[in-house]
Amino acid sequence: MDKQGFTTGIVHGDRIAGTEHGALRQSVHTSVQYGFERVEDLIGVFQGTKKGGFNYARQGTPTTAALERKLTSLEEGVGTVCFSTGMAAITATFLTLLRAGDHLVSSRYVFGNTNSLFGTLRALGIEVTTVDACNADDVKNAIRPNTRMVFVETIANPGTQIPDLQGIGEVCRERGIAYVVDNTITSPALFKPKAVGASLVINSLTKTIAGHGAALGGAVTDTGLFDWSAYPNIADDYRRSAAKEQGLLQIRKKGLRDMGASLSSEQAHSISMGAETLALRMKQSSDNALALAQFLEGHQAIGKVFYPGLKSHPQYEVAQALFKGASWLLSFELLNADRMIEVVNALQLPVKATGLGDTRTLIIPVAPTIFFEAGPQTRKAMGISDGMLRLSAGIEDIDDLIADFAQALKLAA
Ligand SMILES: *Cc1c(COP(=O)(O)O)cnc(C)c1O
Repeated sequence: MDKQGFTTGIVHGDRIAGTEHGALRQSVHTSVQYGFERVEDLIGVFQGTKKGGFNYARQGTPTTAALERKLTSLEEGVGTVCFSTGMAAITATFLTLLRAGDHLVSSRYVFGNTNSLFGTLRALGIEVTTVDACNADDVKNAIRPNTRMVFVETIANPGTQIPDLQGIGEVCRERGIAYVVDNTITSPALFKPKAVGASLVINSLTKTIAGHGAALGGAVTDTGLFDWSAYPNIADDYRRSAAKEQGLLQIRKKGLRDMGASLSSEQAHSISMGAETLALRMKQSSDNALALAQFLEGHQAIGKVFYPGLKSHPQYEVAQALFKGASWLLSFELLNADRMIEVVNALQLPVKATGLGDTRTLIIPVAPTIFFEAGPQTRKAMGISDGMLRLSAGIEDIDDLIADFAQALKLAA
């Protein structure tokens, strides 16, 4: 069949790739070991000469492999490795492709735990520089002879800054630097980082892709654009494979097999089920976030609203040019921060919880929770005020959400 549409591919992919008994989805394979009639086949799986075989579930199962195929197709890549969490995918990528003495350039505005991980990398002798990635020149100026990788996210949390994704892609291509893009907030339904030259794409499957908040998972997809044969940190063992496969092969062996943060078949299945409605959810939650952002921007109790779908957003044009929607992440400031607790408690629908990309709207005050450890100085530098609230818009009916905010914000005056 010709190349199919996004959702068609997800809902028919397992069946077309082949399942037992005509099952519509890949089964949940719970076996840790995989046995063979002929020992030659066992040897072939170990040596990588027998493609598509399994030996021990830490390196993957037919169920995780089915999810990897789906993600590869959604990101239009050449392969994917799944992990137990998004952080495991990011950690494995850094630790298998960077060495002591290497330099990583990243955005100043990245997911808090990723930023904390940079501290671990520094302690291991990997230099990390963070810059304002909204300007590709800042990234370019930070590059040194030992820079091996640039890492950015598509939309930053909670400030919603968008890096100059295209410009950074050009800088990386010119210099032969690996370009890693965390696509968690946008997901392949809104944006494919391959379009801006990304080498590797990270997705926290926990968020947008599963959507139900009932499973943790992460993935690294290779877009096939990067020439790993010229990358200095690939081990000799993996040089024998095709140039395009070397990076991901090293991540699977050194990152998944050796480090062991493996995704279980049960979780992979749960994530696959959620992914079937990815495009529908992204449309609805992006529409809801935009309507809420517009409502909040016009409300007298609200200061700044941070949402890339608003014309007032500094990267509005970038979002329009690159993304099919501005996603579910939206932050805003109560002018009167003293009223925050009352206002949030008065909301009936949004769940007072951390987490992102759920079918339900989630809300959290930023300063006293996810950025509490950062301290007042860092918060100030990052533009996080005491009255800032972060919202992950769900797929509820928009009239219900707006009515709920309208009644709760009466307490903000
Ligand atoms: C949540 C998140 C992660 C980490 O994902 P987990 O599955 O929770 O480990 C990484 N990057 C971004 C942008 C995230 O929002």
